[in-house]
Amino acid sequence: MPHRNFVTHLECSYTGESYEAGRVHGLSREGKPLLVRYDLEALGAAIDRKSLSAREGGLWKYLELLPVRQGENIISLGEELTPLVDLPDLQAGPGRLLVKDEGRLPTGSFKARGLALAVSMAKELGISSVAMPTNGNAGAALAAYASRAGIESWVFCPDDTPAINVQETALQGAKVWRVNGLINDCGRLVGEGREAMGWFDFSTLKEPYRIEGKKTMGLELAEQLGWELPDVILYPTGGGTGLIGMWKAFAELQELGWIGDKLPRMVAVQSTGCAPMVRAYEAGLEHAEPWEDAATLAAGIRVPAAVGDFLILRAVRESGGFAVAVSDESIIEARDRAASDSGFLMCPEGAATLAAYLQEIKSGRIGTDESAVLFNCATGLKYPMPEATGRIDCNKPLDATLLRAGGLSS
Ligand SMILES: *Cc1c(COP(=O)(O)O)cnc(C)c1O
Repeated sequence: MPHRNFVTHLECSYTGESYEAGRVHGLSREGKPLLVRYDLEALGAAIDRKSLSAREGGLWKYLELLPVRQGENIISLGEELTPLVDLPDLQAGPGRLLVKDEGRLPTGSFKARGLALAVSMAKELGISSVAMPTNGNAGAALAAYASRAGIESWVFCPDDTPAINVQETALQGAKVWRVNGLINDCGRLVGEGREAMGWFDFSTLKEPYRIEGKKTMGLELAEQLGWELPDVILYPTGGGTGLIGMWKAFAELQELGWIGDKLPRMVAVQSTGCAPMVRAYEAGLEHAEPWEDAATLAAGIRVPAAVGDFLILRAVRESGGFAVAVSDESIIEARDRAASDSGFLMCPEGAATLAAYLQEIKSGRIGTDESAVLFNCATGLKYPMPEATGRIDCNKPLDATLLRAGGLSS
């Protein structure tokens, strides 16, 4: 598909210093993430939201708001528009409760958005080998898109990363290694190996384009809701790419005049076992101190230190939102309720946003009349579930009493 590209330059998210587009960039000279900037005036003159809405499909329909120049560099695995699913049994009042179900994307998580863009840009810029630390889903998405692009990928994950993530990553063609440490230790290894191995560092926010992919969550959400954003967005925050990306999307949409003044309150949800953003938010700090001994079953948000910490905190504060932690017990309880009451299987990180919603409805920080959007960031099928042990003996007549009592247990 031939299209116009509106990228003007890249910009240091901390100093505003400008960088040339069309070249390979990592972090800025300041060691901070780079953001892609567009000529939104020209973009707005070339295309309107109506013609955009008329296009089919998922994230690639927003091509003019994305950095890829040549259509032939687009690496796609069939990214679809992810649905907004309601949870009527868990909604607290008249304000609608919706979940954006990102588990429907290729590789079963929203990491596909970021990696689709980052790998397409790596192809466009002639990068041939990339490496990243991951808690699981990012590595799997990198493996899939990189293999399709003919790019070599190296993935490093903590020892206790779910087996399914390590296996899907290996099967999809990455060289994957378990490491006896946390994701920041894996990140350090990537940094150490860069020169000797010729890797380009694909760590969260250390290259500029994953955030552009995650930004499409905000674009899709706005369009799906008739260009009127919800009152509150609850986002499970690890490295924060999605939260920062959506906040960037909303700023661009506002500048284009495609949405009005009303922006959602952004709520960063973390686990009580790893809550660096919550601690920094409550202390009024611009940057977060690394979290010691991080531990939570929600692996995707077990990120002790984030290079984009100040961008997460900035978005949360500018939006009038907050950062909040929930316990692992409340995450499991929320997952079980969504599954059994509403037939919706969430991943633990998605369930964390539901737990936070229920908790903050109680505390009053979220009103029962407010519309809220949660993010289910991966398919619940990738995660351990409780055993189901009921069995019956098919050589005997069906015994209704036994059946009602739960059958034979193993
Ligand atoms: C990566 C990940 C997150 C955190 O996303 P960020 O945008 O990096 O903060 C949450 N949940 C799951 C399932 C993930 O894979």
